[in-house]
Amino acid sequence: MAPDAVARRQEAVRAAVREGLLGAETPVLALLDVQGIRETARQLHAAFAGPSPVLHTFAVKAASLVPVLELLDEEQIGAEVASPGELALARAAGVPAARTVLDSPAKTPAELRDALETGVAVNADNPQELSRLDALVAERAAAGQTPGATLGLRINPQVGTGSIGAMSTATATSKFGVALRDEGAEQWIVDSFLARPWLTRLHSHTGSQGVPLELMAESVRVVFELAERINREAGRQQIDTVDIGGGLPVNFAGDETDPSFDTYARLLRRTVPGLFGGRYTVVTEFGRSLLAKQGFIAALVEYTKDSGGRRIAVTHAGAQVATRTAFAPEAWPLRVGAFDAKGAPKHTPDLVQDVAGPCCFAGDLVARERALPELAPGDVVALWDTGAYYFSTPFQYNSLPRPAVHGFRRDGDGGTRFSLVRAAQRIEEVVAESGAAQRGALTDGPAPGR
Ligand SMILES: *Cc1c(COP(=O)(O)O)cnc(C)c1O
Repeated sequence: MAPDAVARRQEAVRAAVREGLLGAETPVLALLDVQGIRETARQLHAAFAGPSPVLHTFAVKAASLVPVLELLDEEQIGAEVASPGELALARAAGVPAARTVLDSPAKTPAELRDALETGVAVNADNPQELSRLDALVAERAAAGQTPGATLGLRINPQVGTGSIGAMSTATATSKFGVALRDEGAEQWIVDSFLARPWLTRLHSHTGSQGVPLELMAESVRVVFELAERINREAGRQQIDTVDIGGGLPVNFAGDETDPSFDTYARLLRRTVPGLFGGRYTVVTEFGRSLLAKQGFIAALVEYTKDSGGRRIAVTHAGAQVATRTAFAPEAWPLRVGAFDAKGAPKHTPDLVQDVAGPCCFAGDLVARERALPELAPGDVVALWDTGAYYFSTPFQYNSLPRPAVHGFRRDGDGGTRFSLVRAAQRIEEVVAESGAAQRGALTDGPAPGR
């Protein structure tokens, strides 16, 4: 991350406190660096530019916020969606169908039909889904229509596992795609393509965070070789597009962007030169690597206390906004920034502290035994690198409301300008969404004896 980005972020904390976006009434909020997102999008385009045409899509689950999708679309990055909700968000953001890819492992017949009618590309996950597509394509053909959308098949190249099992999608027994190395599977895939001239894409996504780059590149190589074989046997370039998924890991240990899109693209060009030479279109689906470092959570320290010789800072950011970190702290460590009550970086000597959240379970910690400037009530903590899969994917534990998300930009005078991306959920909304209108549903009138 450029030093400039670090300065922008720190200034945003100060401005959020000064303007009252963060304070006693609003003790937690999330911030997104608009310039940082644009710059990251441009780095992605530059890394993959030519000779092959490339369509970049953003994995919507990584930051399911309409203004984010709209901003990325303006930067010519479409949307990879995996549910009717995500598809609706992409549409609400104005992402055109031609830049949208539907990848869920559990698409219903209605979702498949909708995709064909609206021209959203579909990667089928399994043989049964392919049969459903057969029926829909046949129905359309009977009505004199083309398949309507670009159709492909997801392959699990079974190249192995990364350091986080739950994030590895190309293991031998992964639930995703058609397992390439199972007995007879490769021949089945080839025959399936030869029997379906409208099937023109191969897709794979080797997992998110913790998967070594070499393994990701090896997956792409395996899928490319499969595309070459199918095209040879078809006697024409039936497969014209390879979708290589996302999964570029993010460095949660420091400010540097490492690995970069450039590093990964160079490795891919070396490992699979044929894919990038111009004969194929390449589709990508990056999520975390586009947004993680462009967003953070800021929260007030409410109390500090000592327990069993341990200092604990009780803050307003815990499992409701940093769910993975609270439940799997080894796999998802976060860096914490310490700021004083005015939002200025604290430089007091370090003290080993736990940083806790507001939830009522013991594991609700975002950092354990961390050396940080000593925190005091009214101070502010920042959870860096949380722009993807954190505040955009809240967990409604303890009926805690979703925090507001604001974008920030430098204005002409070097100040910081905020714009609301998602309003904070109000307590009345929490109550309404918790069945308030269904009072009486479980009772039979007034309780006896009352
Ligand atoms: C989650 C997902 C992605 C994005 O993964 P990141 O690690 O966020 O880059 C891309 N494609 C598919 C199919 C996914 O499930």
